[in-house]
Parts: sequence; C-alpha cells; structure tokens
Amino acid sequence: MEKIKIMVVEDEAPIQELLQFNLERNKYRVKVVDSGEEAISEAVQFLPDLILLDIMLPGADGLEVCKQLKANPKTERIPIIMLTALCEEADIVTGLELGADDYITKPFSPRVLLARVKAALRRISASKRASAADEIVRIRDIVIDPSRHKVEVTGEDVVLTFTEFRVLQLLAGQPGRVFTRYQIVDAVHGDDYPVTDRSVDVQIVGLRKKLGEAGQYIETVRGIGYRFKEDE
Ligand code: CA
Repeated sequence: MEKIKIMVVEDEAPIQELLQFNLERNKYRVKVVDSGEEAISEAVQFLPDLILLDIMLPGADGLEVCKQLKANPKTERIPIIMLTALCEEADIVTGLELGADDYITKPFSPRVLLARVKAALRRISASKRASAADEIVRIRDIVIDPSRHKVEVTGEDVVLTFTEFRVLQLLAGQPGRVFTRYQIVDAVHGDDYPVTDRSVDVQIVGLRKKLGEAGQYIETVRGIGYRFKEDE
C-alpha cells in the first residue's frame, strides 16, 4: 500500500525534526520544506495528502501560503493543519477562513499531533464518501435527517428552527473541525434570515438547550469559534 504523504512547512529545525520523527514512525511519508515559497512550489510536485503549515515563516508566511494553495485547483483540496502559537488567535481565525482545516498550538505533544493528523485525514475520506447535502448524519446519540428536516436525540424528536438546524448540520457533519463564527454565518446564510456573528452565539445557546444532554457536544473554542466534539 502506498504511504500517506505529509508535507511539513516549518523553519525551526527542532520542530522539523520532532514532526518528521513522529510522522515517519507512524508510517507516513514526510517531506519537509522550510519556507513559504518552497511550500507553494513543492505542494504541486509532491501533492501531499495533508500539509502541516507553520504560520510564522520568513518571507511568505503561512497565511499567504494557505491562500495560494487554496486558490490553485491542483492543491485546493489538500487539508491544511496550521501550526501556531497560542497567542495567534486572530491568525488562527484568518487561516480557518482561508480554508485551513485545523490548527495545533505550539508546544504540542506527539500524541495530539497524531490525533489531529488522523482526524483531518478521516474527515477527508468521509467527505469523499458522502458529500450530498441531504445525507443522514448519525453521530453519538443524534440523528440528523436533512431531507425531512428532522433531528432525533436518543430516539426523541427535537424541534429546531431552520437556522439552528443548519448550524447543527454544519458542525455535526464534520466533527472535530473548528468553524469560526463567520464560517457559520456564511454556511447558514442563503435565506432571508439576517445572521450576524453575535447571533451565531445566540443560536448556539438555543441549540444546546434544545439538545439537552447532547448539547454538551457543541464545544466553544475560545477566541476562535465552535466545534462538534468528535466521536471517541
Ligand atoms: Ca516559525
């Protein structure tokens, strides 16, 4: 079987080594590059299955790299996990809105790194299997049926508004993925209901309340947005 390819974009040698060692030990094929320019040209050649992208790079930074990769049809579908410092919340939000899938804050443990890599790869294969908007989502004890606009929690019907339904469908459709408020607004938008980022918070409060015990699966990611807790 061909190995899964991961490209690491990182300019600090100790972190490069840490990433390479742990990824190779887990049978991934790894290519390390240390500048944004190199990342953009190598991505097209190497065509990795996943990219780990440092934000703070000399020259073209990670956000610029993300933007360019997402604008190129050859690389737009490659999932990107950003590597950031905890204090770079604004950059994390920007990166997610530019199309990055996830982020890991430094310093990180190999265990967290590998879990995030696996989750991102899993989401990709899941979205390849079923991208239909009316696909029934079953996660934990929740069943979401878009064609009938129905939600059940442990077998009981839960009545949601149109907007609440769309928010739940978005989050639960890609468990573990963090969505910014803007991304939620953008996904839910499309009817005449005015949705702002503050009203996203209000929707979430309402949604959690209606889901009861299952409401806890919708997690707040401070300073960034929301995500649906991944099934263990
Ligand atoms: Ca760096």
